[in-house]
Amino acid sequence: MNKLKLTKIKDYLLDLLYPRHIKCIFCGSELNSNSYNDTCEVCMKTLPFITNSCIRCGAPTNVDNTGVCLNCKANNFDFKQARSVFAYKDDVISVIHKFKYSKMKFLSEPLGKYLCELFATWEINPEIITSIPLYKSKLKNRGYNQSECIARVLSENNNLPYYDLCAKVVDNISQTELDLKQRKENVKNVFQFNKEYKNLIKDKIILIVDDVYTTGSTCNEISKILLSNGAREIFIITIAHGLGQQKM
Ligand SMILES: [Zn+2]
Ligand SMILES: [Zn+2]
Repeated sequence: MNKLKLTKIKDYLLDLLYPRHIKCIFCGSELNSNSYNDTCEVCMKTLPFITNSCIRCGAPTNVDNTGVCLNCKANNFDFKQARSVFAYKDDVISVIHKFKYSKMKFLSEPLGKYLCELFATWEINPEIITSIPLYKSKLKNRGYNQSECIARVLSENNNLPYYDLCAKVVDNISQTELDLKQRKENVKNVFQFNKEYKNLIKDKIILIVDDVYTTGSTCNEISKILLSNGAREIFIITIAHGLGQQKM
């Protein structure tokens, strides 16, 4: 049996196991006619959608979308701007965990839809979409790259080409327990540009998709690589932003 067929059968079995469009992806309560995008009415009102954010990194702030947060004043990034749909807390954490670690690949559709909505309000014109790559053994275990899945939803809905511009060539330790300085060190030299795309990205505006933005270290590392290989400008879009409310 070929690989494509096997993937289709696996997706079908997962659909049976986790029936879709019946329960809220965030809290698990039953959906009804007032639900939207697999999200119940209550969650639609209470989810931590980011409304005011730092114009640079997209962190939630308590003031208008006009300034740069203290964190961005202290750190220089190579990408131009980053935006996230939600603050990374409460049920947003659990849905992202389910998406990453519980083989619930179908969550890429509703989560990708939220990305598309944010993207539609953002006045940027990327020409290429890419995502943060996973190391090959991790990809094998997980079965899919969650960032690539949501990136493809964005790509298809906006008619923008998707490419795996970089590969992860070193299996570094997880960023979770590290501080900012350690995170920067930990992502150094772990990604490699796919040289076949050198001409493709020349002078192009590129949008990098990831699930969670934490300190920006990983996205910044990929940005650096793409810029040094000829890209013009880099933007980042993620489902959630891991920094709490930032001071301006
Ligand atoms: Zn809900
Ligand atoms: Zn910021």
